[in-house]
Amino acid sequence: MRYYSTRDKECRTWALADAAFMGLAPDGGLFVPERIPQADMERVERLAEMSYADMAAYVAGLIMDDLDADMLSEAVREAYDFPIRLYGLGGGRFTLELFHGPTFAFKDFGARFMGRVAGLLNGGRELVVLAATSGDTGSAVAHGFRGVEGVRVVILYPAGKVSPLQEAQMTTIGGNISPLRIDGTFDDCQRLVKEMFGDRALRRRVRITSANSINLLRWLPQSFYYFYGWSMWHRTTGRTAPEIVVPSGNCGNLAAGMLARRMGLPVKGFVAASNANDVVPEFLRTGVYRPRPSVRTVANAMDVGAPSNFERMLWLYGGDAEAMRRDLRGYSCDDDDILALIAEQKTRFGYLSDPHSAVGFGAAEALGVDGFWLSTAHAAKFGGAIRRAAGVEPSLPPALAEALSLPGHAVDMAAEAGALREYLVAMV
Ligand SMILES: *Cc1c(COP(=O)(O)O)cnc(C)c1O
Repeated sequence: MRYYSTRDKECRTWALADAAFMGLAPDGGLFVPERIPQADMERVERLAEMSYADMAAYVAGLIMDDLDADMLSEAVREAYDFPIRLYGLGGGRFTLELFHGPTFAFKDFGARFMGRVAGLLNGGRELVVLAATSGDTGSAVAHGFRGVEGVRVVILYPAGKVSPLQEAQMTTIGGNISPLRIDGTFDDCQRLVKEMFGDRALRRRVRITSANSINLLRWLPQSFYYFYGWSMWHRTTGRTAPEIVVPSGNCGNLAAGMLARRMGLPVKGFVAASNANDVVPEFLRTGVYRPRPSVRTVANAMDVGAPSNFERMLWLYGGDAEAMRRDLRGYSCDDDDILALIAEQKTRFGYLSDPHSAVGFGAAEALGVDGFWLSTAHAAKFGGAIRRAAGVEPSLPPALAEALSLPGHAVDMAAEAGALREYLVAMV
């Protein structure tokens, strides 16, 4: 299998390793597979009964068929050593909980896979993964690459602007993970990373790559859990074609679901569920796509005003926006709604939901969805919002409590390219 850019009319293709280490295609587009393999759903069901890793290894082998099957299978087993469950709240309401990984958010599914497979593709050579984060992505990437031979992860985060929990998750890992606490904003962190990628002299001395969410190695594995969720839902309900609600921001998750559907997953359709940043629901309503600056909400990982993966969604429909609108419904709500939805789940079902997943629940209720919604983060990561909404504090999972209790280590750095350059050169 080779991969090409959503923007390349000539469809020049690249090997997986090249596409993965470039991240973004040279023309600014997003990498997609050159053809869409078909999954044998009976086999998917059988493997899903065995384990998530068994099923994921099969689907991964279809879309990354150049990788050695045994190595891929081992990488998948290492990546997915945590649970995933379809939880029934009652009355035919189901949610696929994707937050039982090391950083308690669904980004672990992409980042853990990327860490292991990038390690395989890199073959133990020296490689620096450089990432700027406003909180959650950094911890997912750090845990994803933890212990991967030859790879050092350098994470830049803004001092005083991430939560204590997020900071602890990045600074207590140690080993090959090097957090830099930048005296500046998230935008400064991003600017510094961009400058390093644009610095040819530096790149001749240090092999660097990014690990952002549009990377093929983070995107493709997000299609696997749709197959698993479908299998569990089908087994539980006996029904065959669910509608799936996806709490969406940059829409990587939603686009991965659409990819799974093109691979043969029998899904009736999807719901793009967003907070006040309702670019996609608005597009579905009006037919006009109007990207704009994001606004801040309590479901902040979905605060995206110009979703990068919209390009992949359109590509999956051969550029036919009308066809996409037939398969996709939209829903959006504001912060007051989100808090009310959290409270409602607590009182009606005794279930604590984080603000992002609550948007999914809201969509499922409002649109009468026959299927399930994805839960993207653990409630304990958003204790403040839960307390405000439902008057209770979710208890911390042991791994989160432990990270908070350990001493953290980060290097303090001014928001200056010179300082970062020196640091990187000294590292290799
Ligand atoms: C990143 C994230 C989202 C949004 O996912 P996209 O793939 O960007 O649409 C939703 N919920 C949580 C908790 C996230 O971290």
